[in-house]
Amino acid sequence: MELFLPRACGGCGAPGASLCINCQRVWRTPPKLARLDLDIPVWTLSPYDGPHRKVLIAMKEHGRTDLAAFVGAALGASISYLASRGEIEHDITLVPAPTRPTSRRRRGGDPVERVCKASRLSTFPCLSISSGTPDSVGQTAQQRRLNMRVDLVRQPRGSVLIIDDVVTTGATISASANVLRAAGVQVRGALTYCQA
Ligand SMILES: [Zn+2]
Repeated sequence: MELFLPRACGGCGAPGASLCINCQRVWRTPPKLARLDLDIPVWTLSPYDGPHRKVLIAMKEHGRTDLAAFVGAALGASISYLASRGEIEHDITLVPAPTRPTSRRRRGGDPVERVCKASRLSTFPCLSISSGTPDSVGQTAQQRRLNMRVDLVRQPRGSVLIIDDVVTTGATISASANVLRAAGVQVRGALTYCQA
């Protein structure tokens, strides 16, 4: 396929691999606690810039499904790191953050779910953004939190870690954690690739 579809690095545009060695190295940074006022810990790999931001946009807006394997490996390594420090269980279930059904159709699937599956860890997509939730553009952090509605589509077992690409106000993660906990699920925290 490479003969017909020359690849460029999703992180920096260098010709050749889906993700060049330098960008892979950048993506291997261990997760850090994000400074957010939520009642669960949120870990994140990077600020929303550099190769992290470019890869995220390439997966989300440019259909670069080839990047999921690399990001999945980085995600898996981060989870091992957190588990080895006793922050989460080794056999934790990943729950991809909810998306709107319309975005999912437009993108031909959910990039976050694809990455979770590529990590080869147990993945259980079970959340969806309710159709009545207004678009978050132009809303304050507090409005987003009040307006965000998440549906639990099916019930996960055991403890879970919510996975999202970028956290801004934490409204989506907070609403997701609430709906999961209301159903008796133990939410250990959330892990995002970037914090904006
Ligand atoms: Zn690169």
